[in-house]
Amino acid sequence: MIHKLLIANRGEICCRVIKTAKRMGILTVAVYSDVDQDALHVSLADEAVYLGPAPSKQSYLCADKIIEIALQVGADAIHPGYGFLSENAEFARLCEQNNIIFVGPPIGAIEAMGSKSAAKNIMQKAKVPLVPGYHGDEQSLDILKSHADAMGYPVLLKAAAGGGGKGMRQVWQASEFKTALEAAKREAMSSFNDDLMLVEKYLTQPRHIEIQVFCDQHGNGVYLFERDCSIQRRHQKVVEEAPAPGLTDDLRQQMGEAALKAAKAINYVGAGTVEFLLDVDERFYFMEMNTRLQVEHPVTEFITGQDLVEWQIRVANNEPLPLHQKQLTINGHAFEARVYAEDPDNDFLPSTGRLTLLRAPAESAYVRIDTGVQQGDEVSVYYDPMLAKLIVWDMDRSKALARLHLALAQYHIEGVTTNLAFLNKLTQLEDFKQANIDTGFIEKHQTQLAQYSGAQSSTLVPMAALALMLKRQQHKSVAQQDQYSPWSANNTWRANETYSETFDLLVNNESHQVCITQSENKHQLQFNINYQNQSFLCTGVINQQALISTINGHKTSLPFCAHDLGYTLCHPSGLVRFSAVAADLGLSEDNNQHHNFAAPMNGTVVAILVQKNESVVAGQSLIVIEAMKMEHAIKATKAGKVTEFYFKVGELVDGGAELLAFDTEE
Ligand code: ADP
Repeated sequence: MIHKLLIANRGEICCRVIKTAKRMGILTVAVYSDVDQDALHVSLADEAVYLGPAPSKQSYLCADKIIEIALQVGADAIHPGYGFLSENAEFARLCEQNNIIFVGPPIGAIEAMGSKSAAKNIMQKAKVPLVPGYHGDEQSLDILKSHADAMGYPVLLKAAAGGGGKGMRQVWQASEFKTALEAAKREAMSSFNDDLMLVEKYLTQPRHIEIQVFCDQHGNGVYLFERDCSIQRRHQKVVEEAPAPGLTDDLRQQMGEAALKAAKAINYVGAGTVEFLLDVDERFYFMEMNTRLQVEHPVTEFITGQDLVEWQIRVANNEPLPLHQKQLTINGHAFEARVYAEDPDNDFLPSTGRLTLLRAPAESAYVRIDTGVQQGDEVSVYYDPMLAKLIVWDMDRSKALARLHLALAQYHIEGVTTNLAFLNKLTQLEDFKQANIDTGFIEKHQTQLAQYSGAQSSTLVPMAALALMLKRQQHKSVAQQDQYSPWSANNTWRANETYSETFDLLVNNESHQVCITQSENKHQLQFNINYQNQSFLCTGVINQQALISTINGHKTSLPFCAHDLGYTLCHPSGLVRFSAVAADLGLSEDNNQHHNFAAPMNGTVVAILVQKNESVVAGQSLIVIEAMKMEHAIKATKAGKVTEFYFKVGELVDGGAELLAFDTEE
């Protein structure tokens, strides 16, 4: 029996595991790095133990240290979450050697699925359908290319050790094969220290459908249906749903049974996910098996009414599975939207900063938020930039989608750039509503998705002006303490005249002129705000958290915060950043623009792609920076040549640092 569980992870998944463990009466132990000492996962756990410096290699990836801590605190089990050590067979072995239960599959199963090519060999033997391709050991250019030529283009090159979309390249014609192979190998080598490649037929319009499987130590196995994870950027999921729209019961059963066959082939135990590609002709192909809990497991929990972490703990306790296949049913529809600190307008580059405002929609039977951050937290370069998962449920897809839209409009984050507005826009697209989805959805709808033009409403400017006036009154009342003096009165009293003022204010980086007349009212300040020849009668109150305004009789309450660069109001259509100072506050998107060859953020140089003085064309990638587990290529804006690289591969760079010197071709 597990009495004390150490969670070898951080952030939302650690918090999520703690919740279930507590409900089951299990004591919890968190571990934390230097930058996480005040993190949510630390405060939620019964105990927390310091692990090491911020970089994961010195903290969350230190298998030895984690085992040592588990022994020291008397934890009898370790839950690895996902990422970090969750699919590390060596770590599972260390647990076993120290008599600690590893809440995950047997070592052999992790090893079997650790390499995409080895996994494919096993699945081929088990007669699970595979994407046509080559997954052997012969790795010469000629052999790999001859397989690609034989299966026909396009093909996909994939790193056998791959994950996170790294080491993957599409090849559309034979002439591109050599360059693509070199690039994929280089990326695989730097990411996984292993450049074994496989070649697959590239399906041009597939859906990513994965099956949740669960097996116990008594030979029982079930599948908890599927998740559609086709909405991806950089081959990584951003929106998932369950069940997969339009999947027939027959196909669901076929895929479920194939997934179980895959699990049985490696004597699987615990939670696992078998990923398939579903082609337009309804044929499905095994892609890989993830031997852990997936990020998107909550959608399965919503539609099945089960707690998968509880299942994991029960299985680890050697109990039989809580339900048989026949007892499992699908109820309603669920979506998960991953909220990332990233900039959709800048190639989804991760964003860092302090969360000056964080307002999530209220949780209910329909809305669930899994997060590991709180207002005031710093989003650093060290870990994955996912801030939260917003999960919604309702009786059918369209109702659930309406819940998702509402919840996204109620989700507000300031301090880092997020993908919230992008998610909102994406899920409002007609094709998404109609479930016309495949893995190329985001690319296909790029133009529409890029058209997001910020918060929209005719009353935004009057509202911002009102907020500024109210803030000013607040300052006055704090500054002037003589309550009997007319000069400190919190109203509009002026000797012999009505007070009127014209000023410029900056709203989402655009300048607007407003004329404000204050009128006397014993109980409340009233402002007549004239903007673009329209008159708005405004009253309101403001505090640290919200602006409650009535504009021409329409009363609303919007989250509000003050920060170093001005103020932000959270309108359902987007953030409204404003200030009375008519200067460049750096609040606009321009702020994100950096010198062409400056590091966009703190990170590590992972590749230099061209030689010094080699001629390059406009758009060609020159150097690659990795930060927050994502790569960002710095490209030539014009044709020319690099005359100097200021950093070497492996070196750390500060955000804003010049990376190279470039001579433009005349
Ligand atoms: P990783 O482990 O790096 O995440 P996967 O093998 O899981 O890589 O693939 C990630 C995504 O790449 C898939 O969800 C799918 O969108 C795309 N993909 C993978 N293989 C193929 C293929 N053969 N044809 C088309 N798309 C593919």
